Amino acid sequence: MIAFRSVNKHFGDFQVLTNINLEVKEGEVVVVVGPSGSGKSTMLRCINRLETITDGELVVNKVPVHEPKSDINRLRKNIGMVFQHFNLYPHKTVLENITLAPKKALKVSDQEAKQTAMYYLEKVGIPEKADSYPSQLSGGQQQRVAIARGLAMKPNIMLFDEPTSALDPEMIGEVLDVMKTLAKDGMTMVVVTHEMGFAREVANRIVFMDHGRILVDSKPQEFFTDPKEERAKMFLSRVL
Ligand code: ADP
Ligand code: MG
Repeated sequence: MIAFRSVNKHFGDFQVLTNINLEVKEGEVVVVVGPSGSGKSTMLRCINRLETITDGELVVNKVPVHEPKSDINRLRKNIGMVFQHFNLYPHKTVLENITLAPKKALKVSDQEAKQTAMYYLEKVGIPEKADSYPSQLSGGQQQRVAIARGLAMKPNIMLFDEPTSALDPEMIGEVLDVMKTLAKDGMTMVVVTHEMGFAREVANRIVFMDHGRILVDSKPQEFFTDPKEERAKMFLSRVL
């Protein structure tokens, strides 16, 4: 569903991604780890063309993202993205936050959008917060709303960029649990996270990045016992 082939990306003179080759198949959960500044967010953002690649090929949901004429709106409708900061609209209720995009982009009726929103609010465990405002919710609850908002567009790929990094420790678990459920339900996911327990338990594959390159792409079992790469070993010794 996602294929990077020999992808490079520059910011001006700075090469942020070098020779990225990565495939993600339907239903796979790929966890991306690596030191800060290694290019994880940039790689993720290329998938829905929040960043454009400099050269190589990137095909997502059969859409050639590298081709300037590709229909990017269609591409983005099928990809949900959840960031570290949830970016909910503060003056809209939880329900309004979730129904906005489906009504605008997918032209679904108000009633259908509300039904779908409630379905996903149940999924993330906070249907009772439908009429609350974001400021009345904890960080963990806000992030779960952000996930429900992504799911309401019925994407077939979900991208997560450090979704728990801004949360108080006691709220991390509830967000990871929602993500685990999604993974079990067969969602195709690419997750940038420092939560190694989640990576070990949920990932089909772990991708380790350093200085804009993928140095390791392996099964969790192998990655955590013998990552075969000095820099990955060093990284693990720091985070575990
Ligand atoms: P990570 O998510 O692994 O921490 P990023 O993808 O955010 O890494 O950043 C990788 C590198 O690219 C960093 O050195 C960062 O400073 C640089 N970078 C990120 N975004 C931009 C940008 N818009 N312009 C210039 N440099 C950038
Ligand atoms: Mg990042």
